[in-house]
Amino acid sequence: MSSAESARGVAPVPVPRSNRRVGFLLVVSGPSGVGKGTLVERLLAARPECILSISNTTRARRPHETDSVQYHFVAKEEFERRRAANQFLEWAEVHGHLYGTPRAFVEEHLRQGRVVVLEVDVQGGASVRRAQAGAVSVFIWPPSIDTLRERLDLRGTDSAEVIERRLANAGTELAQWKEYDYLVWNDDLDTAVAGLVAIVDAERSRVGRLTQPE
Ligand code: 5GP
Repeated sequence: MSSAESARGVAPVPVPRSNRRVGFLLVVSGPSGVGKGTLVERLLAARPECILSISNTTRARRPHETDSVQYHFVAKEEFERRRAANQFLEWAEVHGHLYGTPRAFVEEHLRQGRVVVLEVDVQGGASVRRAQAGAVSVFIWPPSIDTLRERLDLRGTDSAEVIERRLANAGTELAQWKEYDYLVWNDDLDTAVAGLVAIVDAERSRVGRLTQPE
């Protein structure tokens, strides 16, 4: 508000600043093969205020993976040391391996007003929601169980046994959609990306996230 306006008798109001916001955690979750990775990649490209949290894991690196890109690959002893030092916001054992979300990285970027994106399975989604009450959670829904199988087969990273185990889990995981804040159908990629971007935009516009000027 200009001083001219206040001179005309309009009471000065605190003006929100669009560049000073409180960040939040965005949990993108759903069963294996639902397409979380592609959706998140597109969201990050569309909204530079979003930043991906890279988890620690004790699982072996797959040939196409690079350390500190998909995960920080660590030995079990190191993971346990970090866990004991409270360095994880949440952690879980998934399919026999340990995974953890690095607390310092998340907290630092939230302080900077960023949207920190966690791409985790349904069990991970539940553990993050417990650890971070203010997290915004999105459940990604697959077109069908057959599509999940096709995507896991196409990915070519898992054995037939692992794929069957993941599909067996899918039913239990799908039943948890009601625990989330939002649901996005991943039938059509562009529509699903638009849905996810709209959620981020709406959440960023919440009055409660606009910091008051000093
Ligand atoms: P993958 O080994 O196939 O990359 O991941 C196995 C599962 O672990 C995935 O469903 C993935 O979402 C989940 N996961 C990855 N990082 C984390 C994490 O930091 N915390 C939890 N709870 N789960 C994770």
